[in-house]
Amino acid sequence: MIVRDLVNTDILKLTKRRSVALIPVGSIEQHGPHLPVSTDSDIVSYIARQVSEKNGFLLLPTLQYGVSFEHHPFFNLSVSSPTLEKILVELCVSLSKNHVDRVIILNGHHGNLDALKKLSGRVSKKIGVRQHIIVYSYWHFMKRVFDHAGFVETSIMLAISDKVLMNKAEKGLIPDSLSKSKLNRLSKKANKSFISVTKNGVWGDPTRATRKDGKAILNEIISNLVKESQTCLTGIG
Ligand SMILES: [Zn+2]
Repeated sequence: MIVRDLVNTDILKLTKRRSVALIPVGSIEQHGPHLPVSTDSDIVSYIARQVSEKNGFLLLPTLQYGVSFEHHPFFNLSVSSPTLEKILVELCVSLSKNHVDRVIILNGHHGNLDALKKLSGRVSKKIGVRQHIIVYSYWHFMKRVFDHAGFVETSIMLAISDKVLMNKAEKGLIPDSLSKSKLNRLSKKANKSFISVTKNGVWGDPTRATRKDGKAILNEIISNLVKESQTCLTGIG
């Protein structure tokens, strides 16, 4: 159920039935020369919609802005971690006042993680422990290693968007051949300055991405998330 499309009376009927709300959180940031800056928000919105349709969740509008300062001087529209955390805390409190006490946050951007890790505790401080909050990052539900504007993200975007400029796709930092310690070091550096590590804003190789691979990756993520998030319906008393 897409909350923003519903009228008040229908939502009130739904919230009486011990519903689960799903909030997708994305980002607006550079994704190389070939993907739109909305990539993370687009992907997380698509996955959230599929999962909420399959499990009957209340789908809330995507929070389009995330924490993406590491992409400077490439384009990014960022809010700080405390700001993102505060918005989500207030949304959860608001949901609770509307009798929604089970909330799933679906994250689509690595830089948002700091804002999400203490969310549940922060909400309990305001309203007590009556709300159950679960945070998922969608890339934990696939076998492939996550990238940034590389094979995985580009394939997924080919499957869900007509905004991909494959003729502009170029290789960025290729992590496959690096030692674990070097990769760790570069990841930490990239979390502070993406350009210093990747030069062109791409982590991975998008040049062989296909729509078919994107569909397969999405199917894997969505079916794993559907299963995992069903515990929200059955596992909690
Ligand atoms: Zn991304």
